[in-house]
Amino acid sequence: MRKLTDDKLLVATHNSGKLEEIQSLVRPFGVTVVGADDFGLAEPDETESTFVGNARIKAHTAAKASGLPALSDDSGIEIDALNGAPGVYTANWAESGGTRDFVKAMTRAHDELLAAGAEQPWHARFCCTLVLAWPDGHEEVFPGVIEGRVVWPMRGANGHGYDPIFQPDGYTVTFGEMDRWEKNRISHRADAVAKFVKACLG
Ligand code: IMP
Repeated sequence: MRKLTDDKLLVATHNSGKLEEIQSLVRPFGVTVVGADDFGLAEPDETESTFVGNARIKAHTAAKASGLPALSDDSGIEIDALNGAPGVYTANWAESGGTRDFVKAMTRAHDELLAAGAEQPWHARFCCTLVLAWPDGHEEVFPGVIEGRVVWPMRGANGHGYDPIFQPDGYTVTFGEMDRWEKNRISHRADAVAKFVKACLG
């Protein structure tokens, strides 16, 4: 396992919600985080069919372009009654003429559950795979997960993406209703970042 010795880490994402979460999770370790937008990096095509495959593309592309170690996040929600959909296509469900519309994406998830005649509770999980890549091609991989269920209607205005319809196991509130501190303690991203911190910053 390679340690991160640089004090600067590029987080290879254009998603401000993900960037903020990762920043606050690694800040206590004295690492300065810069985003893909700060480097004017283009978003590479995510052509793989797994979280790890797409995370590898994003991390290696960013590390080579910037000359810095780059951490990427590929994540999504897997809904059991939809055979794991949207999964790696979670962001695609929000595509709407060049912008992202998550109300549309969440409505589609709900519509598909109704169309499938799926009985509640609608078990689901958020998955996150982090890949840390160095400019020389070395990489480390860290998976994270949180189990829960899809609820309807949407609840809460905090967070990002599909947060208003995801209720983690053991909670009566959705990620959209939860305060940021609590989400960052238990989320799929927190799980993966904890593994990254232990392995590479510890
Ligand atoms: P990608 O990793 O850029 O392919 O996209 C991941 C998709 O999953 C985005 O649409 C995110 O909004 C969604 N997603 C990932 N993590 C979270 C989360 O913590 N809350 C809500 N949505 C998330």
